Amino acid sequence: MMNLSGKVALVTGGNGGIGLAMAAALADAGATIAIVGRNGEKNAAASATLAREGFPTPMAFNGDMTDEQSVAKIMAGVVDSFGRLDILINNAGTNDRKLPQDYSVAEWNGLIASNLTSAFIVSKAAYPLMVKSGSGKIVNIGSLMSLFGSPKSAPYAAAKGGVVQLTMSLATAWASDNIRVNAILPGWIDTDMTVMAREQVSDLNERVLARTPAGRWGRPADLGGAALFLCSSASDFVTGISLPVDGGYSCAA
Ligand code: NDP
Repeated sequence: MMNLSGKVALVTGGNGGIGLAMAAALADAGATIAIVGRNGEKNAAASATLAREGFPTPMAFNGDMTDEQSVAKIMAGVVDSFGRLDILINNAGTNDRKLPQDYSVAEWNGLIASNLTSAFIVSKAAYPLMVKSGSGKIVNIGSLMSLFGSPKSAPYAAAKGGVVQLTMSLATAWASDNIRVNAILPGWIDTDMTVMAREQVSDLNERVLARTPAGRWGRPADLGGAALFLCSSASDFVTGISLPVDGGYSCAA
């Protein structure tokens, strides 16, 4: 049920952290992988990493997922290269931590675009390709801030909350096209993004360790199993859910 041979998967933000680990999990199940990021050097390094791990070298696209034209070009590249798209993971995202009153409207709009509008733009562009394939799996990456507020991440939390609602809306709209749309809500995972978070919030490390029942930070590879499940036929009757992968953080008091 988890064999992805013959399937083509696009992972946005697949050039590092959680995205790269999910791309590796799908490649391990046989999927053909394309990754996207804005930074060409990171894209090349990520392709080389997957190749070193023994997977076929993925196609790497440079592009900004908040820009509709950039996304259209990448979808055209996917069609030229593979002729189809079966799986999309909307993982691209950024954060910048400060108190709500300190964000400019431009910064607010940028974070909403990066974390929410991007998922809408890429899903919309993927939809006709998935309809053509006869089925599709879309996985949106939310956050624990999809569930909780945060004093120093108002736009990020608002966007990630929106990711859950977007997920349910796309799931209901596209179920009859045989497209399943789900979300993963990662807990605190050790990546570039949270290295920066630990710099911006001094007691974050201690607070995460104290509240996480599993007693550790997550690793990017911890997200691979959930991504594989939601991208494979094992989850064909699952749509619209948001699955925390957080070592128990969201169920702890
Ligand atoms: P990283 O910073 O390592 O990954 C973010 C990725 O998104 C990078 O590959 C980056 O590549 C890409 N990216 C950002 N903006 C754009 C854009 N506009 N267009 C295309 N690519 C973009 O952090 P993580 O791996 O931690 O984050 C991955 C996802 O997981 C994010 O959505 C994040 O919000 C979410 N998440 C992470 C958590 C954690 O604890 N680490 C917790 C909860 C959620 P490039 O710079 O080349 O564009």
